[in-house]
Amino acid sequence: MNTNENMSHISGTKYCKFCGTVISYDAVVCTSCGRQVEVMKDNRSPSPQVIINNTNTNTNVNSGSIGVKLCNKWVSFCLCLFLGFLGAHKFYEGKAGMGILYLFTVGLFGIGWFIDLINILLKPNPYAVY
Ligand SMILES: [Zn+2]
Repeated sequence: MNTNENMSHISGTKYCKFCGTVISYDAVVCTSCGRQVEVMKDNRSPSPQVIINNTNTNTNVNSGSIGVKLCNKWVSFCLCLFLGFLGAHKFYEGKAGMGILYLFTVGLFGIGWFIDLINILLKPNPYAVY
């Protein structure tokens, strides 16, 4: 995102890091989207600077959903708790190979079942499976 920072000194303009509009180099607030692009320098003012953090549009669209599956922690946990010896939670995570392995080894002889149960509990909700 910081690719525009270096080449902006020449023409007296810079690019807004939020919307990409060309704005004057000493602009503090973008004239197009109205967002603060520079930290205001208050040299001698003793009053604390009020930073307005109103719009947090952190849209993580770029991390595409290829090969990533979001699983609900509690669905996974219940599946693991009750059907873990059948590898149900592995099938739910889309890991069919591991699921079949669990199916034939009774959850890796109970060890994998137990470890997965704790692992799922430690995951955030929802969690991503790669
Ligand atoms: Zn802008």
